[in-house]
Amino acid sequence: MYNPKKLALERIEILFKEAESNFKKHPERSHRYVNLARKIAMRLTLKFPSKFKRRFCKHCYKYLKPGVNSQVRIHKSRVIILCKECRRYTRIPLKP
Ligand SMILES: [Zn+2]
Repeated sequence: MYNPKKLALERIEILFKEAESNFKKHPERSHRYVNLARKIAMRLTLKFPSKFKRRFCKHCYKYLKPGVNSQVRIHKSRVIILCKECRRYTRIPLKP
């Protein structure tokens, strides 16, 4: 059975994998993959899987790698991510 949402999730998964493996040599590709994944999710009004939420900046949509272009810390049961590309913070509540 054709399931567009399932298919989209699979493509998003692949795009993030590609983003991860390209980041060292071609960071600009990683940022493009994140944008593609976001467009797929938007088109299908898909909720972005939470496991990917920490992997990009919600302000500039760049791919984020902790210790390289982002800084991650936990404060008051929230994950706080500093994007070094645009110097802004993303806060994600931790599930209890
Ligand atoms: Zn950013």
